[in-house]
Amino acid sequence: MTTKDLANLIFPDIDKTIEDYKNMYPERNLKEGAKVTRFAPSPTGFMHIGNFQSALIDYVIAKNSEGVFYLRFEDTDQMREVKDAYSVIFNILNDYKMLPDEYEYDGKTVGNYGPYVQSKRKEIYHTFIKHLIEIGRAYPCFCSKEKLDEMRESQTSRKKRIGYYGVYATCRKLSVEEQIEKIKNNEPYVIRFKSNGNNEQKFKFDDLVRGTLLIPENDMDFIIMKSSDKLPTYHFAHFVDDYLMHTTHVVRGEEWLSSVPIHVELFNAFGVKPPKYIHTPLILKKDGENVRKISKRKDPEASMSYYKEKCYPIESVIESLMTIINSNYEQWHESNLEKTYLDFTFSPKKMSASGGALYDIEKLNNISKNFISKLSASEVYDRVLNWAKIYDNDFYELLSKYKEYSINVFNIEREQKKPRKDYENYFSVKKQVWYMYDELFGDSLEYNFDKINDKEEISKILKTYIEMYNESDDKDTWFNKVKELTEKLGYCSNMKEYKLNPDKYKGSVADISTVIRVAVTTLTMTPDLYEILRLLGKERIEKRFEMLY
Ligand code: GLU
Repeated sequence: MTTKDLANLIFPDIDKTIEDYKNMYPERNLKEGAKVTRFAPSPTGFMHIGNFQSALIDYVIAKNSEGVFYLRFEDTDQMREVKDAYSVIFNILNDYKMLPDEYEYDGKTVGNYGPYVQSKRKEIYHTFIKHLIEIGRAYPCFCSKEKLDEMRESQTSRKKRIGYYGVYATCRKLSVEEQIEKIKNNEPYVIRFKSNGNNEQKFKFDDLVRGTLLIPENDMDFIIMKSSDKLPTYHFAHFVDDYLMHTTHVVRGEEWLSSVPIHVELFNAFGVKPPKYIHTPLILKKDGENVRKISKRKDPEASMSYYKEKCYPIESVIESLMTIINSNYEQWHESNLEKTYLDFTFSPKKMSASGGALYDIEKLNNISKNFISKLSASEVYDRVLNWAKIYDNDFYELLSKYKEYSINVFNIEREQKKPRKDYENYFSVKKQVWYMYDELFGDSLEYNFDKINDKEEISKILKTYIEMYNESDDKDTWFNKVKELTEKLGYCSNMKEYKLNPDKYKGSVADISTVIRVAVTTLTMTPDLYEILRLLGKERIEKRFEMLY
């Protein structure tokens, strides 16, 4: 009996060879230097910001080099699979305009290197495993869970390295006859890789982020095929897929760095060169005095759904991630304002190699305020309208009904050299412009009057003001009238003079403006009052004033 008999017994239906697959997945015909990257999420129904960061790097690398970016669903751990998980991922890539060049989704396959869903590639994995068994580099292992638990306990108590290796790899010593007999007796088994490595020996590994590392060789006989569903483990599927699909650069979280020895040994066993690896740093956040890993459980911003619900512009989310991906990005973009992130050349050397990358939602807010401030009023209108269509029907109706007016509202302190930076996302817009719509202004309001708070005094100011108000006044005339009114009512219209002698006056022109501002908006702080009044028009101003007479 030979290993070939064993391989045939385990995989009687596999009649292809690895050569057949090499022919079916030929070298890609790409221009010199083009890179092939893949985003390989597991279908968990959730996209962590760290996964999205990897996808973004994949996308940038492929686009920078006119290469290929493909999507591969890694569903070999079928226990973890969640309904709609594929659409969660696909829709996010779609929203961010990062659609892959090759993918399989919703019954459609694009690309010649599929299937792009691992559970559909079982036959391919089996062919490669069959080959390993034939050449004596893989074997069935019949150890029960209890036996493995016992072994782990004994290794722990004797302070030995934990795992299935060396003397502990008992099934490695079974003869082919014994293995065949056990399989024929229906004993459950997994398939393990037979390692040739020596843990005492180190090899050089080039991680594109961290540089050359010296790491101990693998000597574990790790599992490559599970017993229950005969699907491969992540390690084996990673090798087969990235090899056949001709991935040149693997971008994945740094938690995979410790598996590198396993992966390198697998590639070596087949005599092929591993891809280049970019292990991305953990995303960290400040929590009081501490810095910790951003957590799916504690931090809503760890999930990509957060940005959709709050409706951050996709450009701002990408921008904020790019600033933590490459330390020179921000400066580059400041000096190349007209360019987009896809014009930037990503460099793995400029990633944080020690400990993680600090992510800050306040920073995203600033980036976003800056981004939205530079959009034209009608662009803001279109984007907010799209947001409201999904999330706020009342506001959607108002925006649709008063299109021109709304564009003018969004144009207050916009389309100028230093635009106002007030909206961090589309969600926050309504909270800032509601008072410009009578339907939202309502009549049971809480006014935040400040220094001048006396009902009669307020009423007197407003009545006098409305008599003087003329819609066609330009800004200077308008302000002169406010000053005139200020003096007429015994307040000080010159702020310098007022600051020198505050006790001589009832108050200042600023206090008078505040009364007018609060009367039309309820708020003490708003964008330009002249613009607000001009847009409201005399009739609506008067109606609002009357509520306070
Ligand atoms: N399916 C793996 C995960 O979701 C992907 C790691 C990789 O990109 O290789 O963590």
